[in-house]
Amino acid sequence: MKKGIAASKGYSIGKVLLKKDKKIKIEEVKIDNVEKEKVRFKEALKNSEEQLQKIKEKAEREIGADKAAVFESHIMLLGDPEFAGAVENEIENNKINAEKALSDVVKIYMATFAAMEDEYLRERGADIKDVGHRILANLTGNISDLSNMENNTVIVAHDLTPSDTAQLDKNKVIAFLTDIGGRTSHSAIMSRTLEIPAVVGMKDITSSVKNGDTIIVDGVEGTAIINPDENTIREYEKKKEEYEKEREELKKLINVETVTKDGKRVLVAGNIGKPEDVKQVLANGGDAIGLFRTEFLYMDRDDMPGEDEQFEAYKYVLEKMEDKPVVIRTLDIGGDKKLSYLPLPEEMNPFLGYRAIRLCLDRPDIFKVQIRALLRASVYGNLKIMFPMISSLEEILQAKDVIKECRKELKKEGKKYKDDIEIGIMVEIPAAAVNSEELAKYVDFFSIGTNDLIQYTLAADRMNEKVSYLYNPLHPAVLKLIKLTIESAHKEGKWCGMCGEMAGDERAISILVEYGLDEFSMSASSMLKAKQLIMEK
Ligand code: PEP
Ligand code: MG
Repeated sequence: MKKGIAASKGYSIGKVLLKKDKKIKIEEVKIDNVEKEKVRFKEALKNSEEQLQKIKEKAEREIGADKAAVFESHIMLLGDPEFAGAVENEIENNKINAEKALSDVVKIYMATFAAMEDEYLRERGADIKDVGHRILANLTGNISDLSNMENNTVIVAHDLTPSDTAQLDKNKVIAFLTDIGGRTSHSAIMSRTLEIPAVVGMKDITSSVKNGDTIIVDGVEGTAIINPDENTIREYEKKKEEYEKEREELKKLINVETVTKDGKRVLVAGNIGKPEDVKQVLANGGDAIGLFRTEFLYMDRDDMPGEDEQFEAYKYVLEKMEDKPVVIRTLDIGGDKKLSYLPLPEEMNPFLGYRAIRLCLDRPDIFKVQIRALLRASVYGNLKIMFPMISSLEEILQAKDVIKECRKELKKEGKKYKDDIEIGIMVEIPAAAVNSEELAKYVDFFSIGTNDLIQYTLAADRMNEKVSYLYNPLHPAVLKLIKLTIESAHKEGKWCGMCGEMAGDERAISILVEYGLDEFSMSASSMLKAKQLIMEK
């Protein structure tokens, strides 16, 4: 049994799929049995071809035949007798292992292509490298193809980046386990959105399992059991059943208004990353969207989403939510959220660096596209715009100026938008919380981002499992900042929500109700349990 940090509740029993990012080290090994080595190589070729065939079919369905054609050329290379023959000759002539033989042949091919005059042919060198890497991964059992997986897959990874999770086949992945990360790292948040169990910060889980191992994931206790015996499997099947029964029970609350024991109506809202996530929020009886992390629209692609594309995404969410509030947060990129097409310099402390509103105010070319899309979408529902990572009044004023400027432009162009959109900020930097009395005068609402607020207040990286014991939502300093922020909002007649994971933390809910929090926003899977607890207080 391995232990980590429980990141998303529930139980799963499935098969391991290892996602290894480590560079595969190739060592030369002298072999006696040439035939056996050739068979290993041929099997790796066959497996590679099967995988590529599936990827090609998926790509054809999802991105179109022209873009999927690249996989066809990879498949052709695998079937090229000259290429396979060259590797087999290396094995035979030098009596070396298939890995080393393959790597030598790939290097020769790449050098040959690199020297070609024709640009198209030169580029084929990259295909050889890709294919070579896939065969090698199959030879060494390091294959980690996230888009091509069996049913009941448990992903085991060192870490899962937001763009990795975007690639996953949501119908087949039933749990995540990672070496690093804490409850509020993005892989953990994503697992709660997908409503699948996850354990993070397991330190060495990737080196403790191999592909195809049977594994039990206990997202309640934060443990995993590798290759369990029959009795243990039965025990967990029972736990799973009971857990699912409790979840069914909670469904009775879906259409019940959330009112505290003191008679205060509060909103239970959902956090979303992709427009389609709105369906889960509604299915769990969500009163609002308390946080739309728009950066996910920018991820897992090769270019920025344009104004029209963003407009469609926001309009979709607003329409689906009808007149319920939808808080859309402007781009919060940087930190652990990177874009391949927007290279940012490496930073010593990315969480304290060039990110979110800082980047947006510095890059109006990027920021204005989003603001224009938001304003245009505002006529389709109850939109509220929220700025992330605000540390000072100056930033609020500057960001509001950008909105003003975009309104002017749209007006000139004869495009419609609403005039009375609420504008709020995330309170996730201690300075904003301490100074919330002043900031409350300039905004319509606050939403407390505890994921970051806790890490900055306690100087404990939210991604680092080694300091996760310090990352404590109930630390008195954190609670003081939360209380102050809520009071400051109320003093100015504004509302205050919370969209950090603490809003759905069962230990924190009664305190937050007592402080007068108006809106609790969380992953869809936590909403009903939270509702039950809020109503008990
Ligand atoms: C937060 O910091 O609490 C938050 C909700 O934002 P994110 O997790 O996207 O940083
Ligand atoms: Mg944050």
